Amino acid sequence: MTLPTPAVRARVTALRPEELPAYLYDLTALREHVAGVRAALPERVELYYAAKANPEPEILSALRPYVDGYEVSSGGELAHVGKAVPGAPLAFGGPGKTPAEVAQALELGVERFHVESVYELHMLADLAARLAPERRIAVLARFNLSVDDGSLDGSSLAMGGRPTPFGLDPAQADDVVALLTDGTYPHLELRGIHAHLASGLEAPEQLAVAGAIVTWSVRLAERHRITLSEVTIGGGMAVDYAEPEARFDWAAFGAGLDRLAAAHPDLTLRIEPGRALTAYCGWYATEVLDVKRSHGEDFAVVRGGTHHLRTPATKGHDQPCTVLPSDEPWPHPWPRSAAEGDRVTVTGQLCTPKDVLARDVPAPGLRAGDRVVFGVAGAYAWNISHHDFLMHPRPGFHFLGSAEDA
Ligand SMILES: *Cc1c(COP(=O)(O)O)cnc(C)c1O
Repeated sequence: MTLPTPAVRARVTALRPEELPAYLYDLTALREHVAGVRAALPERVELYYAAKANPEPEILSALRPYVDGYEVSSGGELAHVGKAVPGAPLAFGGPGKTPAEVAQALELGVERFHVESVYELHMLADLAARLAPERRIAVLARFNLSVDDGSLDGSSLAMGGRPTPFGLDPAQADDVVALLTDGTYPHLELRGIHAHLASGLEAPEQLAVAGAIVTWSVRLAERHRITLSEVTIGGGMAVDYAEPEARFDWAAFGAGLDRLAAAHPDLTLRIEPGRALTAYCGWYATEVLDVKRSHGEDFAVVRGGTHHLRTPATKGHDQPCTVLPSDEPWPHPWPRSAAEGDRVTVTGQLCTPKDVLARDVPAPGLRAGDRVVFGVAGAYAWNISHHDFLMHPRPGFHFLGSAEDA
């Protein structure tokens, strides 16, 4: 169960059935949350927002006062974020960058490149020499490091520490450092190391991973007698969909990063969370179209479904939700359907058994016309969904509260 903010609740109640489903974002709640995150972090730690979690322009600009920059992972994100928050520092990461995307990033003056492979390094060096010969391009080499203390075991998605297409193999580190420091590529500057090893880690595991990344980076620099001034330790701070009121322990994480930063006074540490910044500000609201019983279980079929909110289908969880019973009189001449039992499975309008938003929702007496508001829908929700499957209409979008301080 997760309660919508008062602003979201009021708007959901005010919308007409034809205006549902709808995504609602509470920008005031977003700003309060991210201001808290920023305040928990040491001043020296930079906070970038990973735009792929939710790139709505209103969200990007509401975040602007609290973040140092944005991490983008495609030419599309690059152009979009550059337009939504003009002048904000950008770091360009992600696998499979095309020459056209790299050229676009060079032309837009992107601050940092997270290089994912040796091939990409050669490509970047060539394009930088031709397109931006007057600049030295800052490179953070992304490494797929092994963290062998078990810290990644609890993660929901591991991008590192095992064979994956992400980043450079640690065995390539010496060659990569040589290429970037022996004069081969004078237009590139090896500024530091980047790693993003897992998603869904709680603060103690995140700190263990951060410590391991920094130690590895410092040793690499010592071995080659070079200076690395930046280490980005990625995102992946946990969001617990089973316990939507719980929050990643930013205070403990900030305190741990403070110790890490104090031990490395010349290093800029950077984090780039996505999900844990925006997940809680978004809601997907809809109405119950029909309630039916099948082989002893109740199903509520709602307007919309996982083609709008794919998160529960991809992650295999029940999306936290709240029922707002409708006290409007039933407007139709035919009878209203209602749940017989205490628990219902909430499904969408798609003709596939995978279109399940939440199972076992306590909703005794749930009726057609009641509203259901799904929470924790502000990240990896609308933008990862397969909108066109079955050609149902798109949801409405509502940005509530204020994107700026009053
Ligand atoms: C997706 C991604 C992030 C953000 O991950 P979250 O789990 O949303 O915090 C950060 N860095 C990189 C490189 C990513 O691919």
